[in-house]
Amino acid sequence: MNLALQIEQYLPQQLLKLIKIIAEEADNLGRKVYLVGGIVRDILLDYPNFDLDFVVEGDAVELAQQIAGISQAKLVTHPRFGTAKLDYGNFTLDMATTRGETYAKFGALPTVTPSSLNDDLFRRDFSINAMAVSLARNDYGELIDPYGGKNDLEHRLIRILHSRSFSDDATRILRAIRYEQRLGFKLELQTAWLLKRDIPMLDTISGDRIRHELELILRERYPEYPIKRLGELGILQRINPALKGDAESCQLLAISFQKARQLNKPKQLPSLYFCLFIYSLNEGENEEFLQRLNIPKKLSCALRDTLRLKNQLSLLDRPSMKHSEIYYFLHEYDSLAIQANAIAAESSTIHHHLQLFLTKLRYVKTFLNGEELKRLGIPTGPGMGKILQTLHKAKLDGEVNTKAEEENFAFGKIKEINPEP
Ligand code: ATP
Ligand code: MG
Repeated sequence: MNLALQIEQYLPQQLLKLIKIIAEEADNLGRKVYLVGGIVRDILLDYPNFDLDFVVEGDAVELAQQIAGISQAKLVTHPRFGTAKLDYGNFTLDMATTRGETYAKFGALPTVTPSSLNDDLFRRDFSINAMAVSLARNDYGELIDPYGGKNDLEHRLIRILHSRSFSDDATRILRAIRYEQRLGFKLELQTAWLLKRDIPMLDTISGDRIRHELELILRERYPEYPIKRLGELGILQRINPALKGDAESCQLLAISFQKARQLNKPKQLPSLYFCLFIYSLNEGENEEFLQRLNIPKKLSCALRDTLRLKNQLSLLDRPSMKHSEIYYFLHEYDSLAIQANAIAAESSTIHHHLQLFLTKLRYVKTFLNGEELKRLGIPTGPGMGKILQTLHKAKLDGEVNTKAEEENFAFGKIKEINPEP
């Protein structure tokens, strides 16, 4: 089957031009270059994706160097792994030397050796991700599909390539569910059976690799579907026994994810989903989760703050709270933690106070700062810090509005601190 026409219709002009350049340069170097993996799957599905992966039989790094020179890309190479990334600003292209893999130990990273295209396709996770398209002059656009990927796409099936696949690399368990739910496919029968059998193999996978796959799930458009499925299969519970994964918890999580999408910018969503994901844990269980997944510092802070605030929420349940009280209660919490609690809070008063902080109070600034106070003749020192904070509170509570009112307020305060004899 030849996909030349589909490629022309599917890719934007800028990428088509680059593909032509890459194909020509590879021909000049006497190398064979292919589009591979997700992009081939998505061209066949006509599903938008402009993440292009190429494999090269021979040295990918040398080819990438040539292309970077011709097409003004920023180049990052990893000669030891035979890979290179070409960065064009608004998109990137990945190039890798075709390679085969062997697994010395379950869950360990594989031993990699340069190899043929077929071996390179055989090391991949699922048949639908194990196809390539030739870009060589003599067979441009030809689909290479040794494991029946196209047939599986037509039958909407996720199929592993051999029975040791999940035990070699149990991250594929998480990947299978991600594609199953994204595409609305089914796990092929034997794949489903092996996946269930090999769930305990997740214990062999490092925290970093599990976290990476969980992040990919949380970057999906509707992550609640794969999460629910991971719960049904007992996979969440295998990652951390405190993650319940029952129908009711997953339903609650789904509602909170939907609210998060209505309220938040897409860029922040995956981290916010993380905060909502651990919301039902207690602080001790969360510490185990952070450790198991080796969660980096910034996200750990947000997750810890989420639960710390959750445990203090009842203090925000007074309708008569002043704005300054709300502000100084919340201002040291991570903003993701506040957002997560605003989404999860059941009391409308608490929700209102958290939203008020997020949309308004955290942006309230006084006109006057330390410099201005000095110019007005107010001496620096702890007294000045106190005046600034009192002024900020007055501003939050609407007691001062204009710059002149702030100045009067500041002078009033200095008199209170240093009454004239
Ligand atoms: P997506 O649209 O989710 O990005 P993708 O197919 O591009 O899908 P990536 O995670 O970007 O997926 O990986 C690129 C390719 O590398 C996959 O198509 C697959 O062939 C291969 N791959 C990635 N992870 C694994 C793995 N754990 N085991 C085997 N092959 C893998
Ligand atoms: Mg990809």
